[in-house]
Amino acid sequence: MNLKLVKKVNEAKGTKSFFFEPDSIFTWTPGQYIYVILPKLNYPDIKGDTRDFTICSSPTEGNLLQITTRIREGSGYKKTLDELAIGGIVEGKGPFGTFLFDPSIYNKNNIFLAGGIGITPFRCFIKYNIDKKLNISMHLIYSNTNKDEIAFKEELKTLVNANNFLKLDFIISSEEGHLDEIKLKGLLPKGIYIESNFWIVGPPIFVTTMEAILRNLGVASDKIRIEKFTGY
Ligand SMILES: Cc1cc2nc3c(=O)[nH]c(=O)nc-3n(C[C@H](O)[C@H](O)[C@H](O)COP(=O)(O)OP(=O)(O)OC[C@H]3O[C@@H](n4cnc5c(N)ncnc54)[C@H](O)[C@@H]3O)c2cc1C
Repeated sequence: MNLKLVKKVNEAKGTKSFFFEPDSIFTWTPGQYIYVILPKLNYPDIKGDTRDFTICSSPTEGNLLQITTRIREGSGYKKTLDELAIGGIVEGKGPFGTFLFDPSIYNKNNIFLAGGIGITPFRCFIKYNIDKKLNISMHLIYSNTNKDEIAFKEELKTLVNANNFLKLDFIISSEEGHLDEIKLKGLLPKGIYIESNFWIVGPPIFVTTMEAILRNLGVASDKIRIEKFTGY
């Protein structure tokens, strides 16, 4: 499918959203991702012209596909994407993935652990939950290195303030250290966290570390769902 770029939005320092209009009807389930293939690279990139991106808009928001990423100098792919003009076309393939939010299964006690840009599927889950009026309990624990890197900060705060089934905690690791077992335990509901559904997304090191902490805290493996953003 062809995707036409219709909008770019700055979300945080070095982080941008790109909104694409598909050339045909496109449906997806919250949590799925697409391949975004650039027509040509303006800069060399040993990883080539394709990357995976989670669709961070919810299907309830219309037909635009929103992807959000960190733009880094070292990535010829990202620099080219950033230079794509409004109206520019890329190729999209998908949707793919098994990290899906099914409200009939996960209808209570969801705890989301996001490492940096790993926020993308959770933004979609939260919007979907609100727009569909599901009122499912969701607690987002969102870790970033620095304050100015928090993507969707104001939007998330507004959504949480307006919906009492949502809870939000930010962790800024440059100020308070990494999210470790003691910090995480302090944020979880006392005693009953073991029954919660945990969802972990981010760079592989974040996902592996959080999973080990949860297992150490006694959470069963079938209560933990993970999505590793390989490539980071
Ligand atoms: C299922 C799935 C879903 C994904 N969803 C998303 C998504 O929604 N959003 C998203 O952004 N990515 C997502 N990814 C990852 C994405 O596909 C890329 O692999 C990732 O963004 C890295 O891209 P890159 O190699 O072009 O550049 P980057 O890693 O962004 O940049 C490459 C260069 O930047 C420099 N660099 C790296 N880290 C740092 C740092 N911390 N500080 C300064 N410089 C640094 C280095 O020189 C490095 O070589 C997903 C991956 C998977 C598998």
